[in-house]
Amino acid sequence: MRAYNFAAGPSTLPLEVLEEAQKELLDFQGTGMSVTEISHRNKKFMAVVEEAEASLRSLMNIPDDYAVLFVQGGASQQFAAVPLNLMHHGKADYIVTGNFAKKAYEEGVIYGGDGAKCVASSADKNYTYIPDVDKIAFNADADYVHLTSNNTIFGTRFVRFPETGNVPLVADMSSDILSREVDVSRFGVIYAGAQKNVAPAGVTIVIAKRSLIRDPLKICPTMLKWKTQDKEGAHSLYNTPPCFSIYIANLVLRRLIRLGGIKEMEKVNEYKAGLLYDFIDNSSLFRNYVEKKYRSIMNVPFVTGSEELDAKFVKEATAAGLVSLKGHRLVGGMRASIYNAMPVEGVKALIEFMKKFETENK
Ligand SMILES: *Cc1c(COP(=O)(O)O)cnc(C)c1O
Repeated sequence: MRAYNFAAGPSTLPLEVLEEAQKELLDFQGTGMSVTEISHRNKKFMAVVEEAEASLRSLMNIPDDYAVLFVQGGASQQFAAVPLNLMHHGKADYIVTGNFAKKAYEEGVIYGGDGAKCVASSADKNYTYIPDVDKIAFNADADYVHLTSNNTIFGTRFVRFPETGNVPLVADMSSDILSREVDVSRFGVIYAGAQKNVAPAGVTIVIAKRSLIRDPLKICPTMLKWKTQDKEGAHSLYNTPPCFSIYIANLVLRRLIRLGGIKEMEKVNEYKAGLLYDFIDNSSLFRNYVEKKYRSIMNVPFVTGSEELDAKFVKEATAAGLVSLKGHRLVGGMRASIYNAMPVEGVKALIEFMKKFETENK
């Protein structure tokens, strides 16, 4: 039996995608080989990359003057790629709303020193809210403003994105890409590791306005230059790409189109998150500490107030087939990651289990 997997990443994939991959694992489209065994320049694999790109463009309504790249190194590698591609004057503003946002900022400091500034932070309340974006004093001469749209560990998300004028907005969307509608044209660069909402770990999506990626800093390694991957006809195939991860991403994107696109996905995600938060808010045992307005619809942290009871909950939930619910060590308690691939039934099963646990542990 398949478990309901609430892991934050790598995370659950849609069952039908796994079954499809299983079906053609030994013989990918009549090649007599698996997709991981053929050349990345094989026409059949290149078609996969091209379809994945086209699907992403249509799903997110990505304007034509934006490049769509499939790179490696995870979102963490992009923490460095962002300054290396964009920090022409050694200045950047960072909004620090969680652990990954802080890491991105620290990477910015490596290249910008004092020029990389933390212009707003929610560290004062252990990242349980998002600073008011209208009250942030951005630096007009910054090379970019960086933010993390959804904070995977702390369970918060931006509900509105700041106006940054001529300064490009850069967003790490690793844990909420494709979960809700965003206006891509508001951003200079969007990047996301695939292993939360798109595919197995390995591929990282970069969506970047072409006018911004023309001349990276001189010290930028070839592999981290976005323009390397965006060369005419390169199609993210400068070197060997993470083939299997891109292949699964393509199946996931196809499925999203089949299901009606991001708008539909967002509705389901709001519904799932609503069920869980409603239950928690009315519970006499479970609590969520995030300021309501900024609650993530992807990652839902909760606690009982007793470490012992939290541990018992995780253990019994696992035995009941509800797995990977242990919270991040920075927050403790539990965390249910309910990405696109988590079915409504999975969330309902979790709530039923929580109800039962509450009754038994009063
Ligand atoms: C998981 C995550 C990361 C780290 O991603 P890697 O691909 O492991 O480098 C960065 N940012 C956010 C928001 C994440 O959720």
